[in-house]
Amino acid sequence: LFAGPVEFVMGVVDLKGLPPADRTEVCFAGRSNVGKSSLINALTGRNKLARSSAEPGRTRELNYFTVGEDQLYLVDLPGFGYAKVSRTQAEAWMKLTRSYLRGRPSLRRVFLLVDARRGLMDTDEEVMAMLDGSAVTYQILLTKVDKLNKGEVDKLVTDIETKLKKHGAAHPFVMMTSSEKGWGIPELRAEI
Ligand code: GDP
Repeated sequence: LFAGPVEFVMGVVDLKGLPPADRTEVCFAGRSNVGKSSLINALTGRNKLARSSAEPGRTRELNYFTVGEDQLYLVDLPGFGYAKVSRTQAEAWMKLTRSYLRGRPSLRRVFLLVDARRGLMDTDEEVMAMLDGSAVTYQILLTKVDKLNKGEVDKLVTDIETKLKKHGAAHPFVMMTSSEKGWGIPELRAEI
């Protein structure tokens, strides 16, 4: 799949602009600076496909990429939890995301990225609560695990698994990744 072409399709600002739900879709969500663009770039083997939330541009939209021969949509959600964002903007993010999750039958999985150095934060739990109310399976994906030692990673995974038990249905395993080292990237491709 990832050996094939990967192309930017469009940035979507409201749900009327979504492309037809004609193929499997997965999406990536996470706090600003979690390492989401680095991960998407590592996953697709493209250097500058996804843009960092630190850069202006496509970051306030749902960014659609097509992967392989029209086989998959990969969706990059805007980063959330950014300190400088107003309450109104944060609510707009929640509203757009909530309606996207409800109205997208082709969406098969949400990867919720969590910075391994920070662990689950309150805003992550708010997003998880929202995901609990949708029919979509979500999977926690730790980023930047190269910053932790093995003991710390193990403890973090155990903590997150404990918290996940309070969040409804069964969840796929917690993934550990480092875009910098390339760790977990083949596993993520296999999972998709
Ligand atoms: P985004 O805002 O979520 O798209 O995050 P970016 O991909 O722009 O990454 C935010 C910061 O984290 C940048 O300074 C990256 O260099 C750093 N970063 C991203 N992935 C990794 C990783 O796997 N390991 C380490 N150590 N740093 C990373």
